[in-house]
Amino acid sequence: MTENTLPHDHGTIKDMDEFNRLLSSTKGFDNVSRALAQMADGTRMRIFWLLCHYEGCVINISAIMGMSSPAVSHHLRSLKQSGLIESRREGKEVYYKAVDSTEVRYLHHMIEDLMEITCPKA
Ligand SMILES: [Zn+2]
Repeated sequence: MTENTLPHDHGTIKDMDEFNRLLSSTKGFDNVSRALAQMADGTRMRIFWLLCHYEGCVINISAIMGMSSPAVSHHLRSLKQSGLIESRREGKEVYYKAVDSTEVRYLHHMIEDLMEITCPKA
């Protein structure tokens, strides 16, 4: 029995092989950890949440957030590098919005569920 190899027998894990198999998938855990790390900054989370509902340029996002453009740009860079938002260029303007992905949908709804709010009317 695999569970007998544990130093302490607290006796509740029935299928240690399954635990070991899932825990060895470090890439999956690291990906979740990286996405959640983006949410560790409240301001960045607010910008992310805004971009789940709204596509905008840095100037408009800054105006909505009441922040300077460089400060917003800093957070946009970080969110984009993490794959949570994307940008598109139209003429001289660059627009940002949340990526359409399972990861983004979960984070979007995690924020709203934990805050007990619903999506605002766009
Ligand atoms: Zn929403």
